[in-house]
Amino acid sequence: MKLAKTMVAAMAMGTAASAVFAGLYGDTPDAKHAWSVHDMNRPRPPVITVEPGKAPSDAVVLFDGTSMDAWRSGQDDACKWKIVEGGALEVVPKTGEIHTKDAFGDCQLHLEFATPPAEGSSQGRGNSGVFLMGMHEIQVLDCFDNDTYPDGQCSSVYAENPPLVNACRKPGEWQTYDIVFHQPIWDGETVKHPGTVTVIHNGVLTQDNWEFEGLSTHCQRKPLKPYAAKLPLRLQDHGNRMRFRNIWIREIPSRYANTTHGGPAVNEADVAALRAKTAAKLFEAANLADASKPAALGRMLEILGYDKADTYMKPTLELADAYLKELAGLDKPKLQDRKGDIIGLRNACNVLTRNKVVADDFKLKAELQRIISENGLEKKK
Ligand code: MG
Repeated sequence: MKLAKTMVAAMAMGTAASAVFAGLYGDTPDAKHAWSVHDMNRPRPPVITVEPGKAPSDAVVLFDGTSMDAWRSGQDDACKWKIVEGGALEVVPKTGEIHTKDAFGDCQLHLEFATPPAEGSSQGRGNSGVFLMGMHEIQVLDCFDNDTYPDGQCSSVYAENPPLVNACRKPGEWQTYDIVFHQPIWDGETVKHPGTVTVIHNGVLTQDNWEFEGLSTHCQRKPLKPYAAKLPLRLQDHGNRMRFRNIWIREIPSRYANTTHGGPAVNEADVAALRAKTAAKLFEAANLADASKPAALGRMLEILGYDKADTYMKPTLELADAYLKELAGLDKPKLQDRKGDIIGLRNACNVLTRNKVVADDFKLKAELQRIISENGLEKKK
C-alpha cells in the first residue's frame, strides 16, 4: 500500500515528463534481468479469455469428448482407446499407452479422470499415469481405501515423491489434475536446473514445486539425462479401464531460464543481447532532435539503464551539458516553473547511480541537486 502511494506520488510529481521518466522509476536491468523494475517498455502479457469449466482461449485442447484426433497409439496408428458415453476417453486394456501427436515442453496441463469400480489391490487397482514429456510420471491410481507404496500412490511423482496428502475420490467419481511442469535445463551433460512439477489434485496441492531427481522408472533411481526440448505427452495403459475427459495443455515459458523474465539458470549472454536490442530500439525511436531537451535527456538516461555503451553515453553527456547551460540562464521563478523536469531528471540520475550505471559523482546529478537545493525546488508550499 505504502509503495503504491509512493509510486503514484512520484508519477504525479513529474506529470509534465512522467511518460519520459517512467522507465527509470525502478532499479535498472542487470545481468539476469532484461528489464528495470516497473519497466513500461517490458512486453505486456497476452490477453486471453477464460470461462468457468472451459479450456482457456490459448490452450491446446487434447480431448473435448468428441475426438481422439490429438492422440495415437504407437508411431503411426490411430488411437486405440475409445470414446464412451458422456464423452469420456476410456483405456482399452492391452492396447498400450497413447501419446499426443504434437510435442510439448514446459506446460500447464489440465485433465480429469475417473477410476473404474474397485478391483484388485495396490498398484493393480485403477492404475494409469500421466507421463510429462514421456519422461516423468505423475501417477494415476485408485487410492481411495487402497494402500500401496507411498511413492507410487495417486498424485505421486512415481518412484520419487509421495503426494503431500491423499485427496482421492471414490471409484467412478470425476477427479481433476492441474499440473505445472518445467523440464530440466542442461549445459551440455551438466544439469543447470533439475526442473520441477507442481500438482493440484481435486483442488488440493499434492506436489509443491518438486525438483526432479531422475526419470520415472520402476524400482530403480534412474538419473536425469538430457532429452529433446519438446516431446509428446503420454497416458499409460496399465490394464485398467480408466476414463479421462477435458484434457487441455498450455505451453509456458521456462520458469528457470527465461531471457525475457529472468530466472536462476538464465543465459546471461541472451539477457545482455536483449538489453542491447532494447536500447537500440529506444534510441532509434527517441527523436532527439525533435524532442525538448529534458524529454530527450530523460530518454537517453533511460537507454543507459539498458546499455551504457559510448553510442548512448556520448549523446547523453552532450545533451546534459546543453540542458545545464539552458538552466544556467534561468532566474529563480523560471526555475520554479521547470521544477517538474529538473526533479524528474535528478530522480532518474539517482536510479542510475544507485544501480552503478554511472558513478556517484555523475555531473548532471550533482548539478541538478545543487539547483534544486539553492532554489528550494523541493520545499513544500
Ligand atoms: Mg501408473
